[in-house]
Amino acid sequence: MGTHIIDGRIISADIKAGLEKEIRAIKEKHGITPGLAVVLVGNDPASEVYVKMKVRSCEQIGLYSRKILMDDKAGQKELLEKIDELNQDPKIHGILVQHPMPSHIDENKIFSRIDPAKDVDGFNPISAGQLMIGIEGLKPCTPYGVLKMLEATGIDPAGQHVVVLGRSNIVGKPVAMMLLQKAAGADATVTICHSRTRNLAEITSRADILIAAIGRPEFVGPEMVKKGAVVIDVGTNRVDDPSSEKGYKLVGDVDFEAVSPKCKAISPSPGGVGPMTIAMLLHNTVTACKRIHGLE
Ligand code: NAP
Repeated sequence: MGTHIIDGRIISADIKAGLEKEIRAIKEKHGITPGLAVVLVGNDPASEVYVKMKVRSCEQIGLYSRKILMDDKAGQKELLEKIDELNQDPKIHGILVQHPMPSHIDENKIFSRIDPAKDVDGFNPISAGQLMIGIEGLKPCTPYGVLKMLEATGIDPAGQHVVVLGRSNIVGKPVAMMLLQKAAGADATVTICHSRTRNLAEITSRADILIAAIGRPEFVGPEMVKKGAVVIDVGTNRVDDPSSEKGYKLVGDVDFEAVSPKCKAISPSPGGVGPMTIAMLLHNTVTACKRIHGLE
């Protein structure tokens, strides 16, 4: 049996088509357009691309979007004031401040200031706490996208051994926590690994589902993967590529060519978790709008 390639572009297109219909219905029935504000501080080229993609995706499905560009010299106070303003803005239901922020900004202070009702990135400590105890809140987009991908592929994590490579607050920890929940689409036995983990390959090769989120180009080789495993590659890394026009290409944390023949299913990068992250951001904005206006 061949390896199933989990195509995030197809799965996310389905989600976006559903959202487009839902947004149209909300507009027609209630005269409300769900709105997302995306704030970018500085001019990191990768972040600029992500912000552009997010805004374009909003436009495609009929969401209102507002791009706010702030100089990289903008201080913490200025950014906090902008968030306060967006927290009060009735046209805005979701607020996203693009990560990573310049080093003089304390990201945790910024995430904490976003109204949890509008916290579509799910990085506010209240959202993180809700995720931890398994109550309703807005879930971080990349981990949420990983779970949706598994669901759409018919892979039930219940009782399976999931190994998560990486323990960041953005991906590793929340995806592990979501899969650990006593709930449909979760119920996994979860192991989290990081840069201090000993015998990494021994642990990862026991995974039924391996999720790689370490930011190391093509780090995961076939010796780290069990035959018949499901592999989800969250990594998005720029590597030099003189043959490409841009001078670089994007690769995941998994050596796709070498690992894919061993897998039952694998998500590539690019073309896997990336598009799912955007779809879940749009989903969260619609959800936030419905909750704020009591439409659920
Ligand atoms: P991060 O904050 O840099 O965290 C990386 C994690 O990986 C850390 O926990 C680190 O361990 C661990 N790690 C690093 N090298 C390792 C090694 N050799 N062995 C074991 N663990 C190792 O990164 P992140 O924000 O979670 O992002 C991870 C990757 O996902 C990046 O490539 C990023 O671009 C990508 N990403 C993609 C999306 C998307 O939408 N597709 C979204 C977010 C992130 P320590 O904690 O011990 O340092």
